[in-house]
Amino acid sequence: MSIKDNLCIINDKIRAAEAKAGRQENSVQLMAVSKFHTQSEVIEAIKENQFLFGENRVQEAKEKFPQIFESYAQTQLHIIGSLQTNKVKNAVQLASCIQSVDRLELVKEIEKQCAKINKTINIMLEIHTGEESKSGFTSEEEVIKLLDLCEVKTFPHVIPVGFMTMAPFTDDESLIRKSFISLRKFSDKMKSQYKTFSLHQLSMGMSGDFQIAIEEGSTIVRVGTAIFGERDYSKK
Ligand SMILES: *Cc1c(COP(=O)(O)O)cnc(C)c1O
Repeated sequence: MSIKDNLCIINDKIRAAEAKAGRQENSVQLMAVSKFHTQSEVIEAIKENQFLFGENRVQEAKEKFPQIFESYAQTQLHIIGSLQTNKVKNAVQLASCIQSVDRLELVKEIEKQCAKINKTINIMLEIHTGEESKSGFTSEEEVIKLLDLCEVKTFPHVIPVGFMTMAPFTDDESLIRKSFISLRKFSDKMKSQYKTFSLHQLSMGMSGDFQIAIEEGSTIVRVGTAIFGERDYSKK
């Protein structure tokens, strides 16, 4: 199957899942996760009007995307993998959103590097919701502390827009659903507490579970394998 065919199928499935869940058409955005895939594969997707991409690793994104931004200005990149502090400088140059914010220190560095280049950037807070995944905030207090600081404009170049999670890697659909439900509930709670920014984004759902995520309120699904095929980890 070609990238074109896969995008067609995924978009149809997203629209069907929106309808089934009684959600508004186009309320869910598709992010194409291009990690371990080539620049020319990304361009193939862009030619099918897929403009939002996700990468895990800053170095890899830096090799692929600057040229793409020059030729296809509509393209947007989000960083979705755990981010080391020393990679933030490059990350904020490339990305319009860092979805994998999992600690306060990272936000301080994002603010510092964005201030230097006079750029405002969106962030999502990654929340740990499944037993098996290791990444994300585990403490609600820490999230609140961070959002409180955002509310008093401690980080003027950083705009919190919502939350991200990874479901556990399991065939047990009920565990996956549980993880998505817990992110939605957490997000609803935070949304009612913070009024100076809009925490409207819920980034959840991947190739194997995006339909469940849409039923549970996802606004961005992060799909790699179902668009680009299996990743060849031996290449890097
Ligand atoms: C790799 C990755 C994805 C995409 O996973 P697929 O199963 O290939 O769709 C989504 N989110 C994150 C954070 C990832 O690292």
